[in-house]
Amino acid sequence: MQKILIVEDERKLARYLELELMHEGYEIRLAHDGRAAVKAHAEWPCDLILLDLMLPELSGIEVCRRIRQKDSVPIIMLTAKDDVSDKVMGLDMGADDYMTKPFAIEELLARIRVALKRNAGDAVREKDSRVLTEGALKLDRDSRDVSYDGNPVQLTKKEFDLLEFLMLNRNIALSRNELLDKVWGYSYAGDTNVVDVYIRYLRCKLDDPFNIKLIHTVRGVGYLFKLD
Ligand code: CA
Repeated sequence: MQKILIVEDERKLARYLELELMHEGYEIRLAHDGRAAVKAHAEWPCDLILLDLMLPELSGIEVCRRIRQKDSVPIIMLTAKDDVSDKVMGLDMGADDYMTKPFAIEELLARIRVALKRNAGDAVREKDSRVLTEGALKLDRDSRDVSYDGNPVQLTKKEFDLLEFLMLNRNIALSRNELLDKVWGYSYAGDTNVVDVYIRYLRCKLDDPFNIKLIHTVRGVGYLFKLD
């Protein structure tokens, strides 16, 4: 039975999610504040975490950061704020996905299935062509190390995933929706801002410091990866 940790301080919502997810056949544990969440995660290995961002004791962002130091368990953030910067911060801390409250339970269930499936896929991923290169840029898909001309480049989880996808599809113009779908794992109509934000992060970490041009804007389409 797959285990899901629900971190939510609104008790009624937490209880509602617990009942719905138990009905779907998941084993559930609840935590009602940030500290309890970190503790529950440490003593109860789970397959996925639903994490509210606005929490007493420790914020959801901080909880996410602490859990990510130890574990790559899928994390779906729940946020009441329709604030892109908040979501981006959570994604930066390594969360896999987010839902803005209020949400339809069916959509959450679908996102949970996607996150669990993707994680299972990651675990059995083949071990060939594990190092991608483009000029002096090197990306190791196993160790998740990135370097340029031997200089290590520190990327967050999503930045790495985005760069990996771009490198696997070099010389192909990719739309924002496609990037959102393939890298973030779902179609999220209208919120392609996240893609632009992450492209900007990658350019700041690769194109600018090494004075190269890897990520090209394709007007009216999206982005294209190639070394100029
Ligand atoms: Ca809350």
